[in-house]
Amino acid sequence: MPDLGAQKLQSILKANRIISSTLVLSELLRQIMELAREVVEAETASILLYDEKTDELYFNLALSDRESDLKQVRLKSGEGIAGCVAREKKSVIVNDASSDPRWAKKADDSISFKTRSILAVPLIFKDQFLGVVEAINKKGGGFTEEDASVLESFAAQSSVSIVNARIFEKLEEEKNKIEAVFSQMSDGAIFVDDNGRKILANDSAKKLLGKERTELSDTADIFSGFAAKPELNEALSSEEKNVTFEMFRKEPKSMYLGGVVTKIRDASGRLIGSIFIFNDITSEKKETTIKRNFISLISHKLKTPLVTITGYCPLLLDDPSLGEFPKKAITSIGKQGGYLASLVDKLLFFTMVDSETLELETTKTSFSKITEAALFNLKHYTEQVSAKVTVNERIKTLPEIEADEKKVEAVVRNVVENAVKFNKSGQKTVTIDALEDDGRIGITVKDNGPGIPPEERGKVFQKFYQIEESFTGQVEGAGLGLALAKQIMEAHGGGISIESVVNSGSTFAVFIRRGRGEQS
Ligand code: ADP
Repeated sequence: MPDLGAQKLQSILKANRIISSTLVLSELLRQIMELAREVVEAETASILLYDEKTDELYFNLALSDRESDLKQVRLKSGEGIAGCVAREKKSVIVNDASSDPRWAKKADDSISFKTRSILAVPLIFKDQFLGVVEAINKKGGGFTEEDASVLESFAAQSSVSIVNARIFEKLEEEKNKIEAVFSQMSDGAIFVDDNGRKILANDSAKKLLGKERTELSDTADIFSGFAAKPELNEALSSEEKNVTFEMFRKEPKSMYLGGVVTKIRDASGRLIGSIFIFNDITSEKKETTIKRNFISLISHKLKTPLVTITGYCPLLLDDPSLGEFPKKAITSIGKQGGYLASLVDKLLFFTMVDSETLELETTKTSFSKITEAALFNLKHYTEQVSAKVTVNERIKTLPEIEADEKKVEAVVRNVVENAVKFNKSGQKTVTIDALEDDGRIGITVKDNGPGIPPEERGKVFQKFYQIEESFTGQVEGAGLGLALAKQIMEAHGGGISIESVVNSGSTFAVFIRRGRGEQS
């Protein structure tokens, strides 16, 4: 910067400070004009902004009472003094405007203003031409080279501020658009940044959670008092794009929220934030609880007569005088009673697993021990149908795990039972092997049954779902086993999955994730 003298420098610094603190574009432009006038001691000042589309300059506004008229004036590049500045990207001083051929009278005519002298300076940010700032009529004389330097250095800072204000205005505009979309949504929606701090909450979210809560900024505070499944931090830090969640609170009034957290990423894949979309699902949940309690009650009531039926059958069969027909009938009653009892057991187990509070009683155990117990409990059945069950010794080398032994045993039992139950091969074979990779510890259960078609693989984990009879030659069952298995394994932070080739058999993998329930 040339030597401008201490006082001038002070006034530029002050002017720069003022404009760099303004982000509202119209206010900023007004300040630039006011300060431009002050720094070079001119009667008035104006800004012409550059319209890239039409390659024209137009007045934003001037420090005149006739702003609106001046606003209509547009100058082509090269037209008038400002147009020359636009073309050359260089400052121009004209101290006798009326005799300068470059001067376009247009602006003066429109506001009947008398221009004597002009100092016009380009507004440039990096390589981008933004417009021209003009100081008009130097008080007590003409504009000097020093005035040009002063206005140029002020224009440089002004250009930075204009670009910033434009970016800010654009962001505001985008934000308003998003807010408009948000407010129309009937679902609650809260947009949070990558640190989980709230940016926006829509009206439905305010209605569901209360206005005060949605004014808080931390997601944890907004949802405080709610027990979330999975926990909020887990949902926010998950690598998955969409994570469904449920939340429950008791006070002041019991309430369930159900929804999804979706991660928002920019074009380069960087996480910008997440959006929570949720709904009040309290009435659906209450209905489910009533249904579940009903199933539980009925199952308990059925258990007592079933114990009597299944208990008396073997005693009756002990009677040597029993004829052929009663013997057959009692055997059948015993068998069906046994089946009914196992069904009731499954239903009871289901109500327990399906409840909100599936509590795991974990101990130190291993998949080897669990598999052994499951096969022992199934021995009677597998022998009866002459299934060949092989266990690879490798499962003994699997690391120990922390798990609810009884529940995981029920999972393994169910999977092995299915491997036999739906298998119509002459020689039913089931092979149990170890599963150990970077992420998982578990077992695989392979059968030589009918296999599971790809479109059915997700559905078999739904409650009460059974594949069409024609395919698996449907046998007794309630379609609950795999739904339970999935819930139990997920509660352990693990899972259950299927690989299958139709007509060649299925392989089920039952596993926990490393680091979740693995013994160190
Ligand atoms: P259930 O055994 O009570 O019918 P499950 O939830 O355990 O219920 O299984 C759901 C359905 O998945 C079964 O009805 C069956 O159609 C199919 N299925 C499960 N395991 C196998 C398997 N190993 N081979 C073929 N089909 C299977």
